Amino acid sequence: MSKMRFQAVIESRNRKPVQVEEQGRRSELFAKYVFNEERMLQHLTKDALESVNGAIISGSKIDRKIADQVAEAMKGWAISMGATHYTHWFQPLTGSTAEKHDAFFDLLPDGRALEKFGGGQLVQQEPDASSFPNGGIRNTFEARGYTAWDPTSPAFVYGTTLCIPTIFVSYTGEALDNKAPLLRALNAVDDAATAVAKYFDKNVTKVNATLGWEQEYFLIDKALAFSRPDIMLTGRTLLGNQAAKGQQLDDHYFGVIPSRALSFMMDLEQECTSLGIPVKTRHNEVAPNQFELAPVFEEANLAIDHNLLLMDVMDKIADRHNFKVLFHEKPFDGVNGSGKHNNWSLATDTGVNLLSPGSTPMKNLQFLTFFVNTIKAVDIYEELLRSSIASASNDHRLGAHEAPPAIISIFIGEQLSNVLDELEGVTKGKLSPEEKTELKLNVVGKIPEILLDNTDRNRTSAFAFTGNKFEMRGVGSKTNCAKPMTVLNTIVAKQLRDFKKEVDVLVNKKKLKKDEAVFNVLREYIKTSKRIRFDGDGYSINWEKEAKKRNLSNNTNTPEALAVMTSKESLELFKTMKVLSEVELKARQEVDLEDYILHIQIEGRVLNELVNNHVLPSCIEYQSQLVANISGLKNIYGAEYKKMTAAQNTILEGLVEHITGLKKECDEMIEARKTANAITDTHKKAIAYCQQVKPYFDKIRYHSDRLERLMDDRLWPLTKYQELLFAN
Ligand code: ADP
Ligand code: MG
Repeated sequence: MSKMRFQAVIESRNRKPVQVEEQGRRSELFAKYVFNEERMLQHLTKDALESVNGAIISGSKIDRKIADQVAEAMKGWAISMGATHYTHWFQPLTGSTAEKHDAFFDLLPDGRALEKFGGGQLVQQEPDASSFPNGGIRNTFEARGYTAWDPTSPAFVYGTTLCIPTIFVSYTGEALDNKAPLLRALNAVDDAATAVAKYFDKNVTKVNATLGWEQEYFLIDKALAFSRPDIMLTGRTLLGNQAAKGQQLDDHYFGVIPSRALSFMMDLEQECTSLGIPVKTRHNEVAPNQFELAPVFEEANLAIDHNLLLMDVMDKIADRHNFKVLFHEKPFDGVNGSGKHNNWSLATDTGVNLLSPGSTPMKNLQFLTFFVNTIKAVDIYEELLRSSIASASNDHRLGAHEAPPAIISIFIGEQLSNVLDELEGVTKGKLSPEEKTELKLNVVGKIPEILLDNTDRNRTSAFAFTGNKFEMRGVGSKTNCAKPMTVLNTIVAKQLRDFKKEVDVLVNKKKLKKDEAVFNVLREYIKTSKRIRFDGDGYSINWEKEAKKRNLSNNTNTPEALAVMTSKESLELFKTMKVLSEVELKARQEVDLEDYILHIQIEGRVLNELVNNHVLPSCIEYQSQLVANISGLKNIYGAEYKKMTAAQNTILEGLVEHITGLKKECDEMIEARKTANAITDTHKKAIAYCQQVKPYFDKIRYHSDRLERLMDDRLWPLTKYQELLFAN
């Protein structure tokens, strides 16, 4: 073992769990550091509270005087919680969150000091944003960006900083972040879903999209992780021969959580709880050192802020416990990677989950309405939904038989399929009283019973119905859920709006009863959206063929997947739903493509460095030792030496072959990068990186991993898989 590896392993072996002090009961600790409704009740005047609540519920504007009051109250509370600084906390287009801290402290003209934080500072801030990705928007418009308070997500104190969730927009109004379009999409789905929900219950005035994410991650000892330049710089291993043992024994999934990891989790959960993140579930995942954390679901905007905050908190707590958290979708070859299932539904302000079947036929008709419309929306916009989860790192997972394929399809299970089949057979136009009764009692009325035993959970489906919600399974572990959630809520909003128009026409012009009209439109949707429904094995090659026949997209890499973002249909959709303008969409596509290029480029560079500065020198050293050994034996034994050096020769031949191969592939990759870099069109450049540069990664890895198998362990420079995955 090389010295550095040895030290890292010893360090990791000697670690003990960090003691965590219990801070009291979870329910008492919950949201201690959040300026939530309870705090606002204590600190705000009645006017201010009403104004903030108005903004939260109906999106009304908060006037400047009120903002001053809120700021004053927030400041007082935050300082009492130990805050010295405040920051607008936002979600730039790449990376997770950004912040710029300002002290509350200010100076008066006469030189006296005071704590200052007014409505102005609460509502708006101007980070020097020129170095955040914007896809050319700011250049085009020469506009600066500013952040603006999002009162629908409560401010919180994290460490010694008051964090104020904000959107980030240019002065000409274009979104430069992931939150602004999300809020627009949530608004769109609220409007559309409320209008449809009113068919069934007049009292509904608001519909919230709900989201429960499940975060998977790896925990690696800090010393081991930092002994690998690739993990440090790219979040994953670019080289590494698989350990003799992987996940084949299935001994990790749901197993006993190792004590060091458990102590990390306890610490993490306390911190999350005090920050108002409702973490609930923790367990081991399939791969060694892989875990999952899931919260209680929340309103989607809040859930997304919480997921982003969680990832940040995890980094910090892990450091305290001498771990490094890997959020990358595929940190290790040969063992499962990580994802972030997005469980999604729609909930009314009357406390009803619109995707949950109820106890009466009427409630079930409501369920079917939202259920079928979601299916229809995904059917129309499957390719767009796929594009929302595209990234260089997620390319490793989609279609790699551990996450759903790159083909979007919907699993609904046998029983619900039967219900839809029966509905499809319903007569067109008016229904006879008998037909109606039959339908309500025997088809729609039976749904709750059906769902009780609908236990079939198809893990290979990209979009699965799981009893009272849909689960989007292709989302990457690093991804900001705002991206898929913006698309999903926008397409469902569009679909519900179209649905309502159609139903209203049947009611007003064709004089159908409302329930008849609903049945009629749903029947057509069921017919026309059949191709998206698939309950079989999503990993099978047959499904790939079948999907092709059904004309479903199968974009297996990011540059391909991103193309649809600016198709005529996408531009039209986002414009009609007032979620993203053409300029914004094009900018976003540009940013995503750039991000892809940069990731592949960085990985390519790191690979070169690993090979040239670590792998090759060590291998050549070993090669010299063998050569010296062989020629030494020849000197001593003359012609006899051949018999004695057969083993050395075999190893030597292997070394020669793979050293030569390794160097050759690396040099060729550099040339491919140069060619790609000369391309000016971003999309073409991304395609070149994908098709001309990236294929070298596997070829390089092949030679390096072969060398790792041949090499004297004492000389191998990189910490091995067995150490990374099993040493601590
Ligand atoms: P899995 O078997 O995939 O781990 P779970 O049932 O444990 O699935 O996942 C539950 C997740 O779904 C949790 O994060 C939970 O909060 C979320 N969830 C449950 N109901 C809803 C809902 N109505 N809307 C959104 N998310 C929900
Ligand atoms: Mg799940």
